[in-house]
Amino acid sequence: MNMHWDLNPLYESFDSKLFKDEMEKLDSISKDIVKWAENSLKNYDDTRNKIEHYLKYSIESDYLLDKLYRFIHLTIAVNSTDENARKYSDIIKEKVSFLTKPEVMFMKWMKKVDVEKEAENSELIREHIFILNEIKEKSAYMLSEDEEILISDMKRTSSSAWSMLQNSLISELTAEIDGKELPIAIVRAMSNDVSAEKRRKGYDAELKAYKKIETPSSFCINSIKGEVISLSKKRGYKSPLQMTLINSRMSEEILNTMLKAIKRKLPIFRKYLRKKAEILGYKNGLPFYDLDAPMGKSDRKFTYEEAREFIVTNFRTFSNRLADFADNAFENRWIDAEPRKGKRGGAFNSGLHSIKQCRILCNFNNRFTDVMTLAHELGHGYHGSRLYDESPLNASYPMPIAETASIFCETIIMDAALKNAEGEEKIALLENRISDANRLIVDIYGRFLFESELFKRRENASLGVKELKEIMMNAQKEAYGNGLDPEFLHPYTWANKPHYYLASRNYYNFPYTFGFLFSMGLYAMYIREGDKFVDKYDEILRNTGKHEIKDITAMVGIDITKESFWNESLNIIEKYIEEFLEL
Ligand SMILES: [Zn+2]
Repeated sequence: MNMHWDLNPLYESFDSKLFKDEMEKLDSISKDIVKWAENSLKNYDDTRNKIEHYLKYSIESDYLLDKLYRFIHLTIAVNSTDENARKYSDIIKEKVSFLTKPEVMFMKWMKKVDVEKEAENSELIREHIFILNEIKEKSAYMLSEDEEILISDMKRTSSSAWSMLQNSLISELTAEIDGKELPIAIVRAMSNDVSAEKRRKGYDAELKAYKKIETPSSFCINSIKGEVISLSKKRGYKSPLQMTLINSRMSEEILNTMLKAIKRKLPIFRKYLRKKAEILGYKNGLPFYDLDAPMGKSDRKFTYEEAREFIVTNFRTFSNRLADFADNAFENRWIDAEPRKGKRGGAFNSGLHSIKQCRILCNFNNRFTDVMTLAHELGHGYHGSRLYDESPLNASYPMPIAETASIFCETIIMDAALKNAEGEEKIALLENRISDANRLIVDIYGRFLFESELFKRRENASLGVKELKEIMMNAQKEAYGNGLDPEFLHPYTWANKPHYYLASRNYYNFPYTFGFLFSMGLYAMYIREGDKFVDKYDEILRNTGKHEIKDITAMVGIDITKESFWNESLNIIEKYIEEFLEL
């Protein structure tokens, strides 16, 4: 079976006529919209027509950018040295930054528009009423046009540059193992080695390695968070957290309800961690370096063909639509699964709304976790497919629900595997699931605590390396409690998580927990309601791009402002843990 994806449905090559034509078309509509914005957004004559004109332009530019941008980046993803792709990547960035101006002008202009009134006689406006209202609300936090353009320009040499520096520090960092310098990514991967000695060695070497970059990393994190604080204040947000929540289309009340439910369940996770420590021979809780230690034994191997079969068959127990989507993705080469030189690591799904397809990159190595990764990315792809009939402007959804469909699909596959597993294999699968949940709930809670404290202190002054390490360890103690051995924490997770170095995404931690628990809650509903739930599920996905999160969930009768919803999700994990403790 062919394990390389087919990008021809986008373009045949960078030299193809279509690629060149569409690049030119993007240029011409960009120039037009800048001129149009300068002339038309001076007043409010004919407001309805102006909104419609801008929406039509947005849809058209979205279509072109989706195709062009993805083609360039998907090409780079499987061949990092492709010179054509690199060149066009710079060119397209330049073109995108050219579009900042009309965007800022339109947002500012929207401030005085009565969206509901304009929607009365326009279907196009009605269709986009949510995002238009959102633009209007966000315009309250905008500075003057000149300031906005200057800020977006300056970011390229400030926060973006700091985050690029951190990126290169980490990608070039090596750690010493038995006299050999190895890339830090390889050393970190030792954390789930079957050998206890190797896990410990990896941890020691990793901590030693971060010492080499701790000072520049601290400059990066201080500068990026400093910029976020200055800008969010100047724009009138109460805090960086408030800014993140507005962008996430959710309220602080919902976040707090979720956190409260989690705090209540922390003791269950500690029980699991102490049990795992006991099995591994520790008395004082689990050392950080054994969090990912594998338990039981799972050596079932899958060929790519068998992975397809396993996924499609088990997706079919949920719905034909989901199974057919996955089958079609394999059949029509939407997936690039073969690991090879020049191809990037990890996995992702790239939605291609413009051509109603998607592309999935992964590095398939015949293990069960690779099957899970495929299921995860296919889940993202399926989510995108539920939005194919929506306007592209209604097809992007906020971070907290971005992982809903992916984790849901993982759960279908995990449940199927657990059903058939016995003995050591069952322990391995179950423990793996719990350890994932632990990472997404307990560890991320710690990261949230760290970031909250970081923002609080950064308001007054820069933080030194010692202080950053201390805050991180305190956060871990608070999240893990006596589940972790306080002698062996990880004082450098602020240096190794790229999420802290993205100025445009702060608190890029709780959305993972939200997505995980929300998805678990949906799964609990599915188990309870059976086939009746399938249409509801699709309905939720279809609506993710044009409502507040709480309104999307309310459509299917879920109230995420109530602790009981979160408890139901946490109870599923609790059941897993109880089963593990018994085994
Ligand atoms: Zn994902």
